[in-house]
Amino acid sequence: MRTLARLALLAFATPLCFAQSFVSPPDSGPTSVPKKPIIFDVNALDKTADPCTDFYQFACGNWRKDNPIPADQVRWGRFNELAERNNYLLYADLKAAADAPKSALQKQYGDYFAACMNTELVDKLGAKPLDPQLEAIAALTATSELAAFNAKQEKRGSAGFFRIGVGQDQKDSSQQIAETGQGGLTLPDRDYYLNPDQRYVTIRQQYVDHLQKMFTLLGDTGDKAIAEANDVMRIETALAKGSMDRVEMRDPAKRYHIMTVAELQALSPNYNWQVYLDGIGMTQVKTINVSSPQFVTTVNQELSTEPLQAIKSYLRWHTLHASAALLSKPFEDEDFAFFSATLQGQKEQQPRWKRCTRMTDRALGEAVGQDWVKQNFPPDAKANMENLVHALEASMAADLKTLPWMSDATKAEARKKLDAITDKIGYPAHWRDYSSIVVKRDDLVGNVERADNFERKRNLDKFGKPVDPTEWGMTPPTVNAYYNPPQNNINFPAGILQPPFYDNSKDPAVNFGGIGVVIGHEMTHGFDDQGSKYDLHGNVKVWWTDEDLAKFKERTECTAKEYDGFEVAPGQNLNGHLTLGENTADNGGLRIAYQALMDTLAKEGAAAEPGYTDGKRDGYTPAQRFFIAFGQVWCQNATEQISRVMAKTDPHSPGQWRTNGSVQNFDEFGKAFGCKVGQPMMPASGGCRTW
Ligand SMILES: [Zn+2]
Repeated sequence: MRTLARLALLAFATPLCFAQSFVSPPDSGPTSVPKKPIIFDVNALDKTADPCTDFYQFACGNWRKDNPIPADQVRWGRFNELAERNNYLLYADLKAAADAPKSALQKQYGDYFAACMNTELVDKLGAKPLDPQLEAIAALTATSELAAFNAKQEKRGSAGFFRIGVGQDQKDSSQQIAETGQGGLTLPDRDYYLNPDQRYVTIRQQYVDHLQKMFTLLGDTGDKAIAEANDVMRIETALAKGSMDRVEMRDPAKRYHIMTVAELQALSPNYNWQVYLDGIGMTQVKTINVSSPQFVTTVNQELSTEPLQAIKSYLRWHTLHASAALLSKPFEDEDFAFFSATLQGQKEQQPRWKRCTRMTDRALGEAVGQDWVKQNFPPDAKANMENLVHALEASMAADLKTLPWMSDATKAEARKKLDAITDKIGYPAHWRDYSSIVVKRDDLVGNVERADNFERKRNLDKFGKPVDPTEWGMTPPTVNAYYNPPQNNINFPAGILQPPFYDNSKDPAVNFGGIGVVIGHEMTHGFDDQGSKYDLHGNVKVWWTDEDLAKFKERTECTAKEYDGFEVAPGQNLNGHLTLGENTADNGGLRIAYQALMDTLAKEGAAAEPGYTDGKRDGYTPAQRFFIAFGQVWCQNATEQISRVMAKTDPHSPGQWRTNGSVQNFDEFGKAFGCKVGQPMMPASGGCRTW
């Protein structure tokens, strides 16, 4: 549903402004247990709204009125309700493990959590934990030393510009190869550096102010801080210009450029790749996928034109920024003030227990998750989910057969790909072994560094080895799901298999409208603008006839244009091409989940409809309950600021358009609610349809 955002939390910085006067208030933990969300909430409905005019308002109007954004959030929806509850339950486990561990595993994650909660020590240390990194940056004597520096320092997070990772080869998914990408920006998107609108000019000025304040907190003098801030802004702006935009990045062909080390070296003579590869223990690498050659040449240019001092400013900044949340209160507060309050509209910092719980889950998720699933994921949930997945697969197979625009030849290939999709449900078959990570109760920054290193090493160790399809990219309590194109598998962590997505005590209509649509959505990702470029083995390969591919593009263009027209904040519309994959998956998922429900009801008859009288439950038919349950998954409120950030960066549309955009393209919705052709949710054109 969303791709996993990997947060780089590393540590580093300098002389300290050891602000004893800034002491974090003690965190007494949660004051109440978050309520359990429910699936299909009659009280959330705004019955004064006409579902045929604005279905989202009808499904979510009262919920949105009754659930303003809490001060420590920027978006608040049903997803967040469940995620907050999962986070709370996880917190209870972590707290118990920190106070009285019952196993070596509990001791490890309990200590990790306790180190994060120890604000007294964090405040006392100021930025001191960053000293080794900042000293290494200060010791650089020439830009030509950067490759050796990076190899040594990336373990601690003070490296910059280039990095090598290991991933599946897009053209031969059985191989794991070296790759290097683009990055190095701090603001949410390249557009924030380049857009001439006054809104972005203002944000850039606020960012430079933030840079100055942070450098000043590190102990730099006023003039030095100003110069450093300008260095960072200038270099990041150059990197932004040299970066591909997010829409381009969606095309696997544009991210695939296999080069020998010598070719890469010729592209960037100012960076010694072999020294770097040798330094990180990857001497055996002979070829690399360079996803963004223009980024490589841009960095190369920067390394020759920027003075060493400016390069050092840039490295200092990224070292400090990556770890700001782990430092004393003045750093934490200033980091919050710009990135959360100014950029996103968040009013208050989240309580520390919430942040430390998430941080522990990120670092040691498959340790923490072992106890969590025992308590929160009953065995029958997995079996029920498997049944639902099979029902959705059957429905998609039937849907493929009926597509009027696709030839039999392409249908046969699509069917093969669908049949090849594998499902992973709940949690991993084998838990990751974190026992090599040293966790110290009095070393927050060191713990984060060591946990990051563990993941870094785990990634590099994959080079040249077979792919492990049982590996998970999300931790068990996560409220999310994903499709992995090179592996052609769908993944549903235990965290999402609960209300408002799934409730075994309710009728199939609401479960198909909830988790059923999520399953259909993930399956459809194999056939969206991006996923359709991979074959059943996960290789980028055209499996379409030319004619069908042209028709597919015509249909997805219809969707892109439609969503381009949806406004998310005054003067800010969605980007229909950035969100095309997710919108295609939403539309296809809704359709096949609906059909799967109808098939189930036809097969099982009245037995499948507990609690119905005269064909209705709570006053609604199964079809209506299906659509309401679907719409209510997306009930949410958001600040204007975050809506603008998401419009530039998030491949998902906001809840309003995930709901209304999908139902207005599906005539069964209009029929279920008795809409007339020509009403907004039942357009005369029939809307756009791909799957
Ligand atoms: Zn998705």
